[in-house]
Amino acid sequence: MKAVVYDEYGRMPSLADVPEPECPAGGVVIAVKATGVCRSDWHAWMGHDPVSLPHTPGHELAGVVHALGAGVRDWAVGDRVTVPFVCGCGVCSWCLAGEAQVCPDQTQPGFTGPGSFAELVTIHGADTNLVRLPDSVDFVTAASLGCRFATAFRALTTHGRLGSGEWLAVHGCGGVGLSAVMIGVALGAQVVAVDVNPAALERASSLGAAAVVDAGAVDSMASAVREVTGGGAHVSIDAFGSPESAVASVQSLRRRGRHVQAGLLLGPKSTPPLPMDLVISQELEIYGSHGMPARDYPAMLRLIQDGALRPADLVGQVIGLEDAGAALADMDQPGKGGMTVVRL
Ligand SMILES: [Zn+2]
Ligand SMILES: [Zn+2]
Repeated sequence: MKAVVYDEYGRMPSLADVPEPECPAGGVVIAVKATGVCRSDWHAWMGHDPVSLPHTPGHELAGVVHALGAGVRDWAVGDRVTVPFVCGCGVCSWCLAGEAQVCPDQTQPGFTGPGSFAELVTIHGADTNLVRLPDSVDFVTAASLGCRFATAFRALTTHGRLGSGEWLAVHGCGGVGLSAVMIGVALGAQVVAVDVNPAALERASSLGAAAVVDAGAVDSMASAVREVTGGGAHVSIDAFGSPESAVASVQSLRRRGRHVQAGLLLGPKSTPPLPMDLVISQELEIYGSHGMPARDYPAMLRLIQDGALRPADLVGQVIGLEDAGAALADMDQPGKGGMTVVRL
């Protein structure tokens, strides 16, 4: 089968013929129909998040069940599916409680094993991890869910408990951030978007952000957000993932506010000096958000079917598998207007 492969960190990935994967017990092989290109893949390619080489990236996939492993109960060949980027083992106490996103024995396509920049990909623990796609949700839309859209959805609903009329601050308007803007607006919140990139801020406005802060034009992102929101945001998400944006997100909250860290903090000097004095005196809540378990997808998919959420609007370009490697290598450049999805 065809797959995108790299042999060394930082070397341009190429399209290669590789052996088809075996189907593990309890797992499935999925024929990939669409797969998103994500900055997490770029981090792995750069060696920030080590993988075994040679490696095939890709973790934001949708497709059709192609082969079933022994013992799979709930799925059949031909089913249209997507999966979370964190796949739980299905047997530990966290998985059994529906919290597969923190499973200690988790697998991640494109990180712990070969990913979905390929015609076929293996997924373990099918009965824990597969998500059935409604007929009205096409494969490119399903691939665009995530990690980014699903991560933003769970960050704002489960962790942020964002309510109608509340202020949401979104730090970083890349894939997760623009998803958060769209979801925040759909939940009835007032959104202030923060970024250094004017094109990203324009995009945030077009998605319904009530206000924007050009981080390059102000002395303090947090002060600017507190001013716009009349005292601070109820919920703030760091969708970028840097010490500066994480600290600014916490500082931009009002009393009893909720900060959610969704942007990955990888690489050297990545640990933020969080202002824990503020956390105590203002009783702030700090959450980390690590994707979304399969169990929680149906609620989000219903909002997509209803048209309340339109993740397809966040897709910038659809490319072929032969262009996926170059698109991955380009991921550290400022956003060019939306997510890139590979269609097979
Ligand atoms: Zn588990
Ligand atoms: Zn991703």
